[in-house]
Amino acid sequence: MKVSRVVDNCLWILNKKRKVLATKNLTPGKTVYGEPVLKVKNKEYRVWNPNRSKLGAAIHKGIKKIPINQGNIVLYLGSASGTTVSHVSDIVGSSGLVYCVEIAPRVMRDLVFLAEERKNLAPILESAALTKNYENLVVQADFIFQDIAQKDQARIFIKNKRFLKKGGYAMIAVKARSIDVTKKPQTVFDEVEKELRKHFKIIDKKRLEPFEKDHSLFLVKNE
Ligand code: SAM
Repeated sequence: MKVSRVVDNCLWILNKKRKVLATKNLTPGKTVYGEPVLKVKNKEYRVWNPNRSKLGAAIHKGIKKIPINQGNIVLYLGSASGTTVSHVSDIVGSSGLVYCVEIAPRVMRDLVFLAEERKNLAPILESAALTKNYENLVVQADFIFQDIAQKDQARIFIKNKRFLKKGGYAMIAVKARSIDVTKKPQTVFDEVEKELRKHFKIIDKKRLEPFEKDHSLFLVKNE
């Protein structure tokens, strides 16, 4: 099996002539969303499905940088039940921490079960738009990831910049149809980019097709 490192605890694995992305399982023997596992040098890796994760899709599309490392503090906005969160949790490992902000109690319930197994997850049942309500619960993050299908998703992302360390990176997965169904997706992405540019340096952007229709992911830096 041929492997190449992507970032800490994350590999491309050539498996049966297919290149798959996978993260080193923080909780060996346990999977999260029915993903297959592979053994590399006696270590267990969980396959990261790009059709179930916009961050996984952006890596498949060749995003310039994946700014997450072992030991990092991550603020994840819109964590749902923890599909992508679980891979971020693998990458930061037991010395890192992922704050998971999620508004919906139903999915938060599953996330709390996941956090019982994965000790580096800190679930926060709150709206990411109401930063004041969790400002006392979080510390400055090395990386912020947002995946929230809301009309004001760019505004919410910018509001959370206050929790990003100077020099830190952030990503936002933008769903065009949540912002304006009447406009062409590219027009919506251009408008979001213009807004983001006022607050961050844009490092890269990727459309997420074929994994996600009418989605674009922006990688920005807090300079
Ligand atoms: N990122 C997840 C993943 O890859 O596993 C999927 C996220 S799903 C597309 C979007 C999530 O954002 C939903 O669970 C939704 O409840 C949540 N959400 C929507 N508005 C929110 C808000 N204002 N604050 C926090 N979470 C929100």
